Amino acid sequence: MNSLIYKALGVLEMGATPEPVENVVVRVEATGICGTDLKTVYKGHRFFTPPCVLGHEFYGQISKAPEGYAFPVGSWVVVAPYFECGRCSWCLNGHGDLCNDKAYVSSGSFTEHVGIPDGYEKGIFALGHKVNAADYDVYALTEPLACVINGIQRLEAKPGYSKVLVVGGGPMGALFALYYGQMGIDVSIVEPSEVRSSILSGWGIDVVKQADVKPGDYDSVVIAVNKASLVSDYLPLVRKGGCLLVFSGLPKGESLIIDAGAVHYSEISIKGCSGFGLEHFGKAFETIKADEARYRKLITHKLNLKDGQKAFELLKDAGAFKILLGSRF
Ligand SMILES: [Zn+2]
Ligand SMILES: [Zn+2]
Repeated sequence: MNSLIYKALGVLEMGATPEPVENVVVRVEATGICGTDLKTVYKGHRFFTPPCVLGHEFYGQISKAPEGYAFPVGSWVVVAPYFECGRCSWCLNGHGDLCNDKAYVSSGSFTEHVGIPDGYEKGIFALGHKVNAADYDVYALTEPLACVINGIQRLEAKPGYSKVLVVGGGPMGALFALYYGQMGIDVSIVEPSEVRSSILSGWGIDVVKQADVKPGDYDSVVIAVNKASLVSDYLPLVRKGGCLLVFSGLPKGESLIIDAGAVHYSEISIKGCSGFGLEHFGKAFETIKADEARYRKLITHKLNLKDGQKAFELLKDAGAFKILLGSRF
């Protein structure tokens, strides 16, 4: 089958890869390009050694399944790229994202077919019966929204009380703002790019300049840019008893410089989060279902798998929000 292969640092090329051998197979309709895919292609990643196929934010149609399978052939589904064991100490404490014994789909989804392991039904969500496949494209956002919901659960912002500042108006920062907006929580984004700022404002999101935000103004601050120094820059904006969330991935071994008095006297907590648990994935799925139009606008480009390299470059230069790749486009 035709796949977009991550060949070497900075290089993506179309090539043939073997068809999946699993008993259950999903024909991929579309896959979103994730920040992790972008980081992997341009900076490398310890889990993904080229040559390999990336992509995990996908949906599609069951194209092969045994008799009596919970999702018959032809069902439209969105699939969690992994889910937790449900039995270890982390899982039992509600931290499925930290589980060491996760189940994974067998390959990346920048391709035509993905194999689904036996016993994976919990990670599959049925989409229903729309006539036009394009109507389902928004569900490629389920995985990134699940990661955002994981972070939002840690912040515990409340309508009528909380003021949230999201640092970075890329696709993930925008998802935070869209979700908080849906919850009725006061949220603003700091985004230096004029192009992104005007698009975000057009969606009704409050965009502020860094110079205009006041110290102690926010009870929750989300760092949605992978730059460690932003933690020290934005910590003074968190009000007493508030929380700063390190959402974007920061390299292992890098240090954060934080004011000890902020943690002790002002009782500000600093939290991190990475990935999602199955509970967050389910919640993201229901959230999108409740207001598809709110999230659909985040998908600014849909390109054929063959244009993968171009799509990654567009995203690297911040020329897009979410890009979907698929054979249909
Ligand atoms: Zn992702
Ligand atoms: Zn577990």
